[in-house]
Amino acid sequence: MWYTTGMAQVAPTRTDRKNPTRGTASESRFSLMEFMREFPDDDACLEHLWRTRYAVDGQHAECPRCKVTRTFRRYVNAERRQSWTCTTCGLHVHPTAGTIFHKSSTSLQLWFYALFLITSTRCGISAKQLERELGVTYKTAWRMFNVIRNSLMAETDIAPLSGTVEADETYFNRSRRNRLEEEYRRHGAGPTVGERTVFGMVERQGRVIVRHVPDATAKTLSGELDLHVLPASMVYTDMHPSYQRTGRHFNHGRVNHTAKVWVDGDVHTQTIEGFWSTVKGGIRGVYHSVSAKWLQSYLDEYAWRYNHREFTPRRPGVRREPTGEAKFRLLVARACLPLAPKP
Ligand SMILES: [Zn+2]
Repeated sequence: MWYTTGMAQVAPTRTDRKNPTRGTASESRFSLMEFMREFPDDDACLEHLWRTRYAVDGQHAECPRCKVTRTFRRYVNAERRQSWTCTTCGLHVHPTAGTIFHKSSTSLQLWFYALFLITSTRCGISAKQLERELGVTYKTAWRMFNVIRNSLMAETDIAPLSGTVEADETYFNRSRRNRLEEEYRRHGAGPTVGERTVFGMVERQGRVIVRHVPDATAKTLSGELDLHVLPASMVYTDMHPSYQRTGRHFNHGRVNHTAKVWVDGDVHTQTIEGFWSTVKGGIRGVYHSVSAKWLQSYLDEYAWRYNHREFTPRRPGVRREPTGEAKFRLLVARACLPLAPKP
């Protein structure tokens, strides 16, 4: 023996096949194996909900009827009731009540797996792909997706943007001919109308708000700006005529794209343009096309990804999309909360 007794003995480097470990190269991935280990069945998912919503230790929770902390137990019965019972007053507490899982005929584990799949890709996953992965009907897969986007990813209560904000309007799913006409009108007569008109506002180094709007008139766009941007902010736009009066409510800078000026010192709209290219590339690649009816929910998904970017040690100062695991945990945490009442 040539090591001293104080030294830790080096563990044998044999691979334990019953307990696979994550390869160092896949730091950004929460693998399917890890998911399955944490959520092997419906019971594990239900337990997760129970602990997240009510009982950190799995046993003690504040009883809504007794109004004090009580011991809860899960009694195993024939119907396998999805509830925990207060051992003092007998009240049943259902961890799924009020959440997206409530009254769903789809199993909890499938729901969790759908959350895993959606967050394990960078630019989304189609309902068709979800259908294949989950082994459910297309209709079910599509509905699950819709619920996840509309209830978990839509940030309806987002605080107004401030500081330096770039604003821009864009159009989705337009034919080339329409686009040319658009360009023509844009530099000529002014306001344009398209059924897939989208308006985006983004803080530099911050959050994005995207809205599917009826048109790109000055009235519509300034209404959105007033609603989502604080008055003292610096707003940068292009020369679109609808922004002519933006300076009345905000500090306003414009960049003249028609004169081939893209960046003039601090005045540019590169951040929002970058966001558009991500969304358009994603929608083209994953979803192919999006109907006007569901456009907002797709936009919400991309905005959610963008707004949950974080600083990582690898590239200091640059906010990047979180790892699949971080996104998954964020979404699961949101899924454990009761749904906000419909406005
Ligand atoms: Zn009680």
